[in-house]
Amino acid sequence: MLVINENKGVVFDTPTDDKSSLEFINFVTNELKSEIIGLIPTHFHKDCVGGIAEFENHNIPTYASNQTIKLLKKNSQKLSKPIKTFDKNLILDIGNKKVYAKYFGEGHTKDNIVGYFPDDDAVFGGCLIKEIDANKGNIEDASIKVWSATVEKIKLKYPSAKIMIPGHGKSGGVELFDYTIKLFE
Ligand SMILES: [Zn+2]
Repeated sequence: MLVINENKGVVFDTPTDDKSSLEFINFVTNELKSEIIGLIPTHFHKDCVGGIAEFENHNIPTYASNQTIKLLKKNSQKLSKPIKTFDKNLILDIGNKKVYAKYFGEGHTKDNIVGYFPDDDAVFGGCLIKEIDANKGNIEDASIKVWSATVEKIKLKYPSAKIMIPGHGKSGGVELFDYTIKLFE
């Protein structure tokens, strides 16, 4: 998810590799005339940080939870720049508006967090939230038993979300909460 306000942008998760990340950064810079002021990986997997080197090349600061950093290091992810850390909640100013990242519990991974932009009532669920008709996907690091309970907590927090963006596939609305909860029950 890319949130833009006052020509500033915050990105949740990199495109999967350096090449597509460079294209993405160029698009935001040249077409949207905006400066990316922060990258927030929503968990430690490659589909969230695969292009982090390109973001570091462009001096875009990364904000990651302590849990995510621990797992990135454990999985020998190369990080050349210091990362700004947070525990369970992050609030970033983006011009005169705010964007949020929050940890609700384990699911797709132990560290997965969710992004939120109140002005559009938009939730970025990442791989914790599934598109309609999706299967369970990569569950090698998953906490299947508590996944639904974690999504219940997110649903309680954002009951009227208008835009729900999953990690893969089509975005939708609050029906993605219920689909995901059922899938892992
Ligand atoms: Zn993942």
